[in-house]
Amino acid sequence: MHGVVMYAPGDVRVEERPDPQILKPTDAIIRLPVTCVCGSDLWPYRGANEVNGPTPIGHEYCGVVEEVGSEVTSVRPGQFVIGSFIASDNTCPHCLAGYQTQCRHRVPMQGAQAELLRVPLADGTLVATPDLPSPELLPSLLTLSDVMGTGWFAAVAAGVQPGMTVAVVGDGAVGLCGVLSARQLGAERVIAMSRHEPRQRLAREFGATDVVAERGQEAVARVRDLTDGVGADAVLECVGTDEAMHQAIRSTRAGGGVGFVGVPHGVTLTGRDLFGTMVRVHGGPAPVRRFLPDLIDRVYRGTIDPGRVFDLELPLAEVAEGYRAMDERRAIKVLLQP
Ligand SMILES: [Zn+2]
Repeated sequence: MHGVVMYAPGDVRVEERPDPQILKPTDAIIRLPVTCVCGSDLWPYRGANEVNGPTPIGHEYCGVVEEVGSEVTSVRPGQFVIGSFIASDNTCPHCLAGYQTQCRHRVPMQGAQAELLRVPLADGTLVATPDLPSPELLPSLLTLSDVMGTGWFAAVAAGVQPGMTVAVVGDGAVGLCGVLSARQLGAERVIAMSRHEPRQRLAREFGATDVVAERGQEAVARVRDLTDGVGADAVLECVGTDEAMHQAIRSTRAGGGVGFVGVPHGVTLTGRDLFGTMVRVHGGPAPVRRFLPDLIDRVYRGTIDPGRVFDLELPLAEVAEGYRAMDERRAIKVLLQP
């Protein structure tokens, strides 16, 4: 099969790789009709994370089950399934509490930018759709594996409730899905923070009522202006930089919540940052498995269309151009066709 391998920062290639095999009786093999590049793939691509030799890459996936191990009972060949970027048993105490990304037996997924993928812990990880989805649904279903589930968790972790004013820091695919999630959870006002016109437009289509183009302290001041000097009830931090985290905390009213899902790179928070603001902070790697049944239902009913974050579609063979386009912010998110 063909799969993407990252050799070094800036160096991704499609190669002929061995087909994945069932290694454990709890595994499944799925065939991926579409796959994609994640904003978090840009960290190693830009050299912010180390690349230790050639590494198969990609962790977002949905597709048709080809084969299952002898102990798998909840999915069968021919079904269309979606799973999280972290495989989980869905039975341990952390999973039962809805924190499947902290599963005692968790396995980080990789190698999903490919034609075929081995999914460990298939019974716990994979959720089947009601039927074989039509091609138009594939981009939206693919986002549920990571970016939409992560935006949703950001909103849940921030404590978004009906009627609230919500601010979203970050205009990548996760931030935009966060806007969509906040509206779905009943936010009355959603302030999207973005300087990029195409992203501002999509944020408005996803339900943003206001757009703030400033950053850092100026952005905080703008959010305060828009909320009678109080701050937002809930803020979604979807970047992972120190500036974004501080911007999120200082944009939140006392007693409000910050949901942070950007993978931290250089974020430093002090006790005083929290003590002085009286803001609740919760986040981490989103347990998207918790939300999959509900989000699949919303996509099937046509309530949400998060697949619109894909604004560039390429054959898998042109993956290098896909990474460049996202790195240079020419594309929000790139869909790849194996
Ligand atoms: Zn578990």
